[in-house]
Amino acid sequence: MAIKNADITPGTEEKELEYLTSREFRDSVQTVRKDKLMLGLMMNFPLTIDRILEHARRLYPHREVITKLPNGEIHRQNYLQTYSRVKRMAKALGTLGVKEGDRVGTFAWNNYQHLELYYAIPGAGAVCHTLNIRLFPEQLTYIINHAEDKVIFIDATLLPLFEPIAGSLKGVEHFVIFNHGSDFKTTLPNVSFYEDLIDASDDDFEWVTKDENSAMGLCYTSGTTGEPKGALYSHRSMVLHTFGINQSSGLGTAETDAVLPVVPQFHAMAWGLPYACLMAGANLVMPGPHLKGPALLDLIDKEKVTVAAGVPSIWTDLYHTMKRCPEVDTSSMRVLMVGGSAMPRALIEAYEKEKGINVLHAWGMTELSPLGTVCHLQSRHQHLSDSEKWDTKACQGTPVFGVETRIVDEENNEQPWDGKAVGELQVRGSWVIRQYYKLEKSESFTDDGWFRTGDVATISPEGYMKLTDRVKDLVKSGGEWISSVELENALMAHDDVLEAAVIAVPDEKWAERPLAVVVRTEQGSVDSEGLRAFLAPNFAKFWLPDRFVFAPQIPKTSVGKFDKKRIRVQVADGTLN
Ligand code: ADP
Repeated sequence: MAIKNADITPGTEEKELEYLTSREFRDSVQTVRKDKLMLGLMMNFPLTIDRILEHARRLYPHREVITKLPNGEIHRQNYLQTYSRVKRMAKALGTLGVKEGDRVGTFAWNNYQHLELYYAIPGAGAVCHTLNIRLFPEQLTYIINHAEDKVIFIDATLLPLFEPIAGSLKGVEHFVIFNHGSDFKTTLPNVSFYEDLIDASDDDFEWVTKDENSAMGLCYTSGTTGEPKGALYSHRSMVLHTFGINQSSGLGTAETDAVLPVVPQFHAMAWGLPYACLMAGANLVMPGPHLKGPALLDLIDKEKVTVAAGVPSIWTDLYHTMKRCPEVDTSSMRVLMVGGSAMPRALIEAYEKEKGINVLHAWGMTELSPLGTVCHLQSRHQHLSDSEKWDTKACQGTPVFGVETRIVDEENNEQPWDGKAVGELQVRGSWVIRQYYKLEKSESFTDDGWFRTGDVATISPEGYMKLTDRVKDLVKSGGEWISSVELENALMAHDDVLEAAVIAVPDEKWAERPLAVVVRTEQGSVDSEGLRAFLAPNFAKFWLPDRFVFAPQIPKTSVGKFDKKRIRVQVADGTLN
């Protein structure tokens, strides 16, 4: 019988020890009575974001953030200069009336100013709220008002997207603009300029936050499956997440790296790379608004990028650019980190076989800061054939230390790690959300302290998670589940297919049937019959899509994922047919 906390009475040390090592203790988040514990005698040194910047200043002052500016020029600045500018900006925030706990928005591309704000805003004790520049105006307005942002920093190149909503923003007192030209004009009220604030400030400033549990960052989910919801990160959770990324089972970022985050800073904190790089001393290569294949290839070549990170659609584009420009040198690349949606197996294979680039498939969520799992091959995989190797690398991988995973059935019963049982993926850990911002109750959390991801997965005996779908994207045909992700993966392995998205469409007889929207490559000519025949050897007959829709492109979300909500609507109303 499990021993409960209440059973412990003075003098029953054995029972207490049994309790401390029991499952019940691990599963519950109860605190054992403090007077019964012998506390460790180590410093309670707060894990705050400013420590990362202090570390970079002392140890890696010469390492750089390199930005491709909107006009295409390259801007370089080392971490010592960055440190001084961050301090000045953190002090300047006080002059704008920003106080501890206030939310400060950013509306910007990946660049050195945005990096500075990642440190200056939390350094001033405030919360850095990154705003997704690709949201619809109504969503953006909703999020800014919901977060009650007090000040918003705006990249001048994005003003045309921002100005139209300014009138509906309730609590914003100041706008701060950067990257503006000499002929700059705006309709925004209460405007200050970034460089003026830095010039008028100085770096005699003490970091404000003393409590590692204070909030430092706020990101809303991009709303792929519902209304945007806020994940509020703490200093502690973000510092621990940074350790997590820099583990060798994570990205293993090193001082010798030059990291190119193509993933936007407004998408789940650019996967934490702006913190990971300064902690490790790696150079950061910021692409600004230049996100197409040729521009990225140029940056990889010129800045000798070793690690690039982004969603699969970016890497599809880059791969085709590389094929067109085989003379461009990409030999500096050691890792392509990919997540956000499933990386097609065929693309992992192509990068590794043709370019010698190791593709690291990672899974994460805004709610996990965002890193959850990373797929590394281990010593046990040495004997695998090439084909088995690509199969393994197409999995989302094992949890990095700090995050724990389990899969459960519909009654929340834990399922075995046998690589076969399919269940909803749940996670817990030091950088996993425990509540959404301003949303006290949510079905996303279980009574026993786990976060429901809404993803469906299997876990192998070795702990490799393979995501089969999102709960909302699974196709239920005649009572049987069909994985849209597996079909997409298989379709994208066809030489004539650039991209493929599979959705469920209503069906009188089977309730739902799969439909595939396919974008052919420039020279591709495959038709429905060809694709069905291509899939047939590897899938049960009822899995094969009844319809294929050939389209010039697939609707994508603000962060570059297949937008299945929109695809469903467009298929239903005949826009996609
Ligand atoms: P949103 O939920 O709005 O799409 P997120 O970026 O937080 O915003 O998305 C998290 C989701 O993205 C996960 O729940 C999962 O469905 C999907 N995802 C993330 N990484 C992967 C991956 N490597 N393979 C498949 N799906 C992924």
